[in-house]
Amino acid sequence: MKNRIVLLGPPASGKGTQASLLGAVFGIPHVSTGAIVREERAKGTPIGLEADSYTSRGLLFPDELAIRIVDQWLGTHSRFIFDGFPRTVGQAIALDALLEQKSLGLQTVYLLELPDEEVRVRMLGRLTCSKCGAVFSENFHKISVEDPCPKCEGVLARRTDDTLEALDQRLAQYHEFTQPICDYYEKAGLLKKVDVRFGRDAVFQLLYNDLRTDE
Ligand SMILES: [Zn+2]
Repeated sequence: MKNRIVLLGPPASGKGTQASLLGAVFGIPHVSTGAIVREERAKGTPIGLEADSYTSRGLLFPDELAIRIVDQWLGTHSRFIFDGFPRTVGQAIALDALLEQKSLGLQTVYLLELPDEEVRVRMLGRLTCSKCGAVFSENFHKISVEDPCPKCEGVLARRTDDTLEALDQRLAQYHEFTQPICDYYEKAGLLKKVDVRFGRDAVFQLLYNDLRTDE
C-alpha cells in the first residue's frame, strides 16, 4: 500500500477528480498548497495571511513559501496525495529533503498524460451553470451553451478564462515546469505514466490497483 503520492498532469486530465476519489477510498488526505492555505487563512494564522497576499493578487507562491506551507502541514501528516505540488524542480527537491528529515519517502508519482489537442477539446467544451455552478462537457453531455442547465434550468456559460489563447499559455507553462519535474522523478525511479484517454473509470481502476501494492 502506498501512502505518499504525487499526481502530475495538465489541465482537464482529471487530476483533481482522481486524487479526491483515491483519497476518499484509501483515507489519504488529498491536498494542494491552495487547500492548505485556505484552511490556514480561515484560522487566521501568519502563514495563511502571508500566502493570501499572493492568492488575492492571482499570483503563484514563490518556492520558498510553498515549501514552508508544506513543511508545516507535514508536521501533522505522514500520508498524502499531492495535487499541484511540487510545481517546480526546486519544490520537488525540497519535498524530498522534508520527507527525508521525517524518515519517510515519496512512494510514487503518477503523470496523467493527455495530448494538448485533447486538453483543448476538453477545456474549451466546458460549460458552467451560472446559477448552481455545475460543470458540463459539450461533447460528453451532448449539450450546447444555448441549452438550460439540466440540473436547475439556469443559464450555461463558458468560463471567461477558457479562451484558446489563455489555455495555450497555461499549457506552455505546464510543459515548461512539468517536464523537468518528470525527468527528476524518472531518474529517481518513481514516475509512472498513465494515459487518461481511456476515461475516468478506467484510470481510477488502474491507479486503485497500483496504490494497493508496494511496487
Ligand atoms: Zn444549474
